Amino acid sequence: MNHIAQNINELRLHIPSHIKIIAVSKTKTVPEICEAMKAGQLCFGENRVQELTAKHEQVPEAQWHLIGHLQTNKVKYIAPFVRMIQSVDSFRVLEEIDRQAGRCNRVIDCLLQIHIAREETKFGFDGDEAIELLNNVEFQSLKHVRICGLMGVATLTDDMEAVRKEFRGLSRFFQRIRQDYFPADPSFCELSMGMSDDYRIAVEEGATMVRIGSLIFGARLYRNS
Ligand SMILES: *Cc1c(COP(=O)(O)O)cnc(C)c1O
Repeated sequence: MNHIAQNINELRLHIPSHIKIIAVSKTKTVPEICEAMKAGQLCFGENRVQELTAKHEQVPEAQWHLIGHLQTNKVKYIAPFVRMIQSVDSFRVLEEIDRQAGRCNRVIDCLLQIHIAREETKFGFDGDEAIELLNNVEFQSLKHVRICGLMGVATLTDDMEAVRKEFRGLSRFFQRIRQDYFPADPSFCELSMGMSDDYRIAVEEGATMVRIGSLIFGARLYRNS
């Protein structure tokens, strides 16, 4: 736990200051989160609704991002407080986010998760599905969600050139979507890509947000991704 502040400071030396660091605190404890906050870390990411909600209750002053698959029936638990939902992967869930945000009188910031990895198991839209969504008039009528950009998770591999290709492809897709669909909308500005093992590549390829867990908090005791 003592090293958390040090890890954050070290990380900041390697990441340009305009890039936002999301500290991924899944499986980590509230005291560990507080330690990170003391080092000036404000944004935290969780991949499970129950854990996100419990931690928000205990550390409400942090900005909480959801970065894992969201089931439609769980949107209501996070709608009152979530700062950003990075893992929107279907129109259905986006509609429910809109509905629940409306009930809370909020507009919820969202990223569309794009499937860039080779693994079929990972979530997200394919490029043409994302474009179909953006062209959908029902999507365009949603009033309580703000699409702020894209998110992607690269293939889990040691082949860093393969990872770079995936990030580069996502970065190009992001530019294209921004040009074609959000030309006059400054809120569409976030490209969330890169984790502990590949954030440097992601930064080189144009990430504006990186999601870092183990480099900040140490290895997780069990896999929970
Ligand atoms: C767990 C997780 C991370 C952080 O992983 P680390 O390798 O520990 O940095 C980032 N993004 C998502 C979507 C995750 O599930």
